[in-house]
Amino acid sequence: MGSFKLGKMTLRSLFGKPETVLYPVQTRPMPEGLKGHVSNNIEECILCGICQKRCPTEAIAVDKKSGTWTVDGFRCIQCGACVRECPKHSLTMEPTYTAPALTKQTHTEIKPQPSEEELAAKAAEREARIAAAKAAKAAREAAKEQEG
Ligand code: SF4
Ligand code: SF4
Repeated sequence: MGSFKLGKMTLRSLFGKPETVLYPVQTRPMPEGLKGHVSNNIEECILCGICQKRCPTEAIAVDKKSGTWTVDGFRCIQCGACVRECPKHSLTMEPTYTAPALTKQTHTEIKPQPSEEELAAKAAEREARIAAAKAAKAAREAAKEQEG
């Protein structure tokens, strides 16, 4: 009986439609509920490191100094903790398959450095805020003196 079943399975495998596809040349529709892999919109990321602290498998490495965010797909268990905890909502679970590679690889995003103009605009904004706060304080003190 066992060998009959085995023979049937062998024949089905030989002449039936293959169970696999030639990925990545061919792909199948993503199954519903596929968690995929973690993706970071680095423009929004502030490199705070919370995702690194929350990750139970130490799959994420954040380096503020070099402006990099790295995920090791082989350590990630798709628990979604980093996505839930990110204060800037820059992390998402992308429901796609990981691209094939010849070696084990981590994925790194590099935070773009602000341009000279952006830095100057930020500095001017900060100075304007400080000046406005000082002016408001002076106005409050003047009003108090008039009352007294
Ligand atoms: S928690 Fe979010 S903002 Fe903070 S480093 Fe991670 S991805 Fe970036
Ligand atoms: S999904 Fe979970 S395991 Fe994967 S990087 Fe985020 S916190 Fe770590």
